[in-house]
Amino acid sequence: MTKLIYIEREIKDHFRTKLICSKISNPEIIIIDRFSEIFNKRNQSFKLQKNDPALILAKKYKNLLHKTPENYGIGNKYNYYFSYMYNCLFDCKYCFLQGMYSSANYVIFVNYEDYYEEIKKISITNKKKNITLFSGYDCDSLAFEAVSNFMSYLIKKIPKYENIDLEIRTKSTYDKLFSKNIIKNIIIAYSFTPERFSNKYEIGVPSVDKRLKVIKRLSNLGWKLGFRFDPVIIYDGWQEDYKELFVKIFQNIDIDNVHSITFGKLRFPETIYKKLIKENISESLFFNLEKKRNSYESSNEYNIESFLIENLTKFIDERKIFFNN
Ligand code: SF4
Repeated sequence: MTKLIYIEREIKDHFRTKLICSKISNPEIIIIDRFSEIFNKRNQSFKLQKNDPALILAKKYKNLLHKTPENYGIGNKYNYYFSYMYNCLFDCKYCFLQGMYSSANYVIFVNYEDYYEEIKKISITNKKKNITLFSGYDCDSLAFEAVSNFMSYLIKKIPKYENIDLEIRTKSTYDKLFSKNIIKNIIIAYSFTPERFSNKYEIGVPSVDKRLKVIKRLSNLGWKLGFRFDPVIIYDGWQEDYKELFVKIFQNIDIDNVHSITFGKLRFPETIYKKLIKENISESLFFNLEKKRNSYESSNEYNIESFLIENLTKFIDERKIFFNN
């Protein structure tokens, strides 16, 4: 567990700062002015820092919610995403965060109430619109929940705002906050790659079987579930592995509880891709990507879309499947 904690002066006495610190044994606390002075420092090694990341507690002042790119969604026309945290407990070798940030330290923005106020505002000012909120863009939504308690805070507020669907995206098995009192406008979305790949390239992520055990419990309780195959990864034997994964997942749960499935190609903006390659110089994993104008992505020759649609529709109605590219 992280011992070094940087705390912004402004929130040093915030009740949540104290609560989070109380969950870390023997922390060494350093007071700073702004999180960026530690997080954005140049010449840091993401890879080295990943071995022992510090925790940074900060306040987020603006841009708490962002619009998603056009065409990104799971059925609703209006879509926003947010992150209460930067960086992740897990270490997926393809994770774009290692190309995006120079630091692997965890940043938590403790002013959860301000996220809630923004969500409330969006719901109230768009009463007649159906909106999806996506959590887990710059982090995994639940992997740090035992310390942060962000989702435990937020999900209690969401039932009041019926025009909002909240997607909680995760690879974690943390499920303590999901009781038998299901919340209709919450979708718990699990990201998967095939087991053979995950075991090797998703360091720290619970096994497919462990996650399926949790998913089965949630499915039995009646929670709405999402499945995210984004990115689909191309490697020797990927098609057989994905087919096996689909059988394993969809034969084990109540299909009626599946809210949506999304998939997408592995894709990176050029600058992020180059940094990511530098961080993983010994991996051969990424060489299946093709250079486009300002990005790198899986080649069209693999027909990812037709392969996924063909194999997912064996289990799920095509209207619930979304290709986010
Ligand atoms: S779980 Fe998601 S956010 Fe975390 S390391 Fe893996 S890809 Fe990145």
